Amino acid sequence: MPATKHTPKIRIGYGFDSHEFRPGIPLKIGGVTLPHDKGLGGHSDGDVLLHAITDALLGAIAAPDIGALFPPSDPKWKGADSVVFLREALQRVRKMGYAVANIDASLILAAPKIGPHTAAIRARVADLLGLPADCVGLKAKTPEGLNLERAAIAHVVVLLETRMPAQKKRK
Ligand code: MG
Repeated sequence: MPATKHTPKIRIGYGFDSHEFRPGIPLKIGGVTLPHDKGLGGHSDGDVLLHAITDALLGAIAAPDIGALFPPSDPKWKGADSVVFLREALQRVRKMGYAVANIDASLILAAPKIGPHTAAIRARVADLLGLPADCVGLKAKTPEGLNLERAAIAHVVVLLETRMPAQKKRK
């Protein structure tokens, strides 16, 4: 079968991102601002989780990655809300005829403790993706033995499924 005829019913996507902690800036993870004395540096708002989700969505449809679509060299994205990146990726997913089935994420960071904020982050990410919260997995780990205390890391997998065509109304 020619490759162009291959239209999978489901697609998997994987995203990874890391950002370095810097003092004096807000900490945004999953679109939620968390209380902490440091935030994540980067050209945009440094939201490591939203960046990894965005890349997972783009990867699932074999689109250009977040760095290609929103280059850090473009001043337009300086301090940008990373929700903008995620929305663009989601729009591309929908245009390809897919819907997000579920996502699963792992965050790796020494501090702050994510546990108290897990519910809020899952709810926000679910809202951004148009999913119920039980379709958003989130685990937080400390970087045991990795010597990565200055960074936050996110790994994300996403599953897409073909969207059901709208039901025609019967006369
Ligand atoms: Mg990033």
